[in-house]
Amino acid sequence: MSKFLAQKLNTLKPYVPGEQPKDAQYIKLNTNENPYSPSKYSVDAIDREQIEKLKLYSDPESFNLRTAIANYYNVNLQNIIVGNGSDEILAFIFAAYGECGVVFPDITYGFYRVFANLYGVKYDAIPLTDDYKIDVNDYEKANKTVIIANPNAQTGDYLTLIQIEELLKNNRENVVVIDEAYIDFGGESAVKLIDKYENLIVVQTFSKSRSLAGARVGFAVASSALIADLNAVKNSFNPYNVNRLSALLAEKAIKDKEYFIQNCNKIIATRKRLVENLKSLGFFVIPSKANFIMTKTEKISGERLYLQLKERGVLVRYFSDERIKNFVRITIGTDEQTNILIAKIKEIIGE
Ligand SMILES: *Cc1c(COP(=O)(O)O)cnc(C)c1O
Repeated sequence: MSKFLAQKLNTLKPYVPGEQPKDAQYIKLNTNENPYSPSKYSVDAIDREQIEKLKLYSDPESFNLRTAIANYYNVNLQNIIVGNGSDEILAFIFAAYGECGVVFPDITYGFYRVFANLYGVKYDAIPLTDDYKIDVNDYEKANKTVIIANPNAQTGDYLTLIQIEELLKNNRENVVVIDEAYIDFGGESAVKLIDKYENLIVVQTFSKSRSLAGARVGFAVASSALIADLNAVKNSFNPYNVNRLSALLAEKAIKDKEYFIQNCNKIIATRKRLVENLKSLGFFVIPSKANFIMTKTEKISGERLYLQLKERGVLVRYFSDERIKNFVRITIGTDEQTNILIAKIKEIIGE
């Protein structure tokens, strides 16, 4: 750090993403990317003509992409904002609704804490239950902005819409953000509740279920008043926040429902098979509705398993946080990748 850095940023602890190795020698199951290619409609959409158009700024209103999302979820255009990844949407949310403080689970997406620190927002981290679940009763009348990832990051634990409604009913005087990065792998979206709850913001991304992590596109669905707030922040930061090519890729992807459903179903089926295999090897697995699972065993520590798998060419994610340090987090890959993973695990634990 230089001597010029703002004092308040001196203690910043930036988000640490999973490794992105430069060579392709690893089976990469560490950052919850989709193992399947983007929709062929996305791939075919980028041609010379689109690249020529890059001399012009992108549409500051991302009209075509927002229209496609609005059609998909059967909501109005003014209920949608798009961002440079959902991380950017979350940043807008912290800027807009951080003043009253925020509250989120102790084990969840690491970026919430990072944004809170960046924006000088006070936060409470509410412990998950002993079986790694979110208890919505812990968030009654929070009087702060509530942020819940559903399914939860790091655990895959899922709250039903009934539980989400309970949360909303108990927090009418503050904003409730449901981060649905993983909702398409077996959960039910809270988007259908936005007309009923003016304080609800649902955040989603094209990075996981739609195979576009590198395009950086996310969005939020909420009442038009909340979206107007977020637009004011966006237009004070970067009006052209989604580039032309990414907007086009995402628009084509969300229109290709058939391919999307097929991929999600494949990942759900592979997840089930991986969980069964791990359990038969004596592993404990947190029930997951995401495209990853958290698992641990008495036979080997989380850190050692992570290192031994890496040595054998399989990258998974290890977190040193006290409550989850015995676990590894494994992204659901293709069936072929999963077979190799299982074989390597058997080798490591000597089965
Ligand atoms: C992956 C992830 C995001 C970030 O998604 P991007 O759209 O790639 O920025 C947000 N929230 C959660 C819980 C995630 O797991």
